[in-house]
Amino acid sequence: MLNRPLALVVGMILLLVVVWMRQPHPQTEVARTALIMGTLVEIKGVGPDKDQLEKAISEAFSAMRVEEDRFSPGIATSPVFLINHTLEPVEVGPQFLELFALGQRISAETRGAFHMGLGGLIKLWDLGSVSPRVPSEAEIKQVLPASTDTLTVINTNRVRRLSPAVQLDLGGIAKGFAVDRALEVLASAGLESASINAGGDIGLLGGHGERPWRIGIQHPREAGELLATIDLKGEAIVTSGDYERAFMLNGVRYHHIFDPQTGYPARNCQSVSVVAQSVAEADALATAAFVLGPEEGLRMLEEVSGVEGLIVAADGTIETTSGLKDQIQWQ
Ligand code: ADP
Ligand code: MG
Repeated sequence: MLNRPLALVVGMILLLVVVWMRQPHPQTEVARTALIMGTLVEIKGVGPDKDQLEKAISEAFSAMRVEEDRFSPGIATSPVFLINHTLEPVEVGPQFLELFALGQRISAETRGAFHMGLGGLIKLWDLGSVSPRVPSEAEIKQVLPASTDTLTVINTNRVRRLSPAVQLDLGGIAKGFAVDRALEVLASAGLESASINAGGDIGLLGGHGERPWRIGIQHPREAGELLATIDLKGEAIVTSGDYERAFMLNGVRYHHIFDPQTGYPARNCQSVSVVAQSVAEADALATAAFVLGPEEGLRMLEEVSGVEGLIVAADGTIETTSGLKDQIQWQ
């Protein structure tokens, strides 16, 4: 049995603890950037404990670097590199299979507009180089692989290319996938409020404190200007634009999203933004809708469940899916 003064002290302490726990804790926000997958990635975390936020963010960056090593065709130990350099089966892990299965589902949903076998074409155009050029029709024909069904064979955890013409390039989906993994890391570190922006691939955890996150959608023709903003909680939004990696020649814009049917940059959109539950899905669907163009792209986005989108057509006209109309604030 406790004596009375001691019981009183214990009671007081308990009361103080309860009062402290019910107080709104001062929230801090930590924002950090890192260069991953050739993109400036910004992670913001909101919470009461600055050290916890710092630690979680640095673990999230590490998780993204693991995905960069897995999916970059230029890294000699990546499964993508290995698959591209042999016709023998290559063993891959569950993350590779997960990304690949999602990519193939989206290829099927978009009649091959999303195509993970364009590595040869992407190398030929070499948009990252200091002096990119427009390849000849003959060169393009040589590296244009057939439809997406002839990409690879998967036998449990082994992937094999079916033809030397296929070169895997997962650049249209891997960044989104990496952001999803980083969000998982932040969530398991106990964060309830965070945002990750990897060059227009945005993933969210919860809201921005009590409110939703206010996300700006880049204007495709006015650098640094916003086209619109949208309020989101715990969702993903990805924008693919023809302004990201591009060069102009004789008044024509050449950019990094290719129409697998022609081998040339897709011509019918300036940008596409897609809202989805996962960043990987939004990433791939944005690339795919860009290739399909405003009409077919919008129809496709309406059909895929749990997905909304906004398309800026080549002539600057803007279309949105029905579910997005009331959510957008135009600038
Ligand atoms: P980013 O976010 O880097 O701007 P996107 O998600 O818009 O990229 O996808 C463009 C990248 O996807 C290209 O750099 C290339 O690696 C790859 N890619 C280009 N065309 C296609 C396509 N039709 N299907 C799938 N991937 C593509
Ligand atoms: Mg994409």
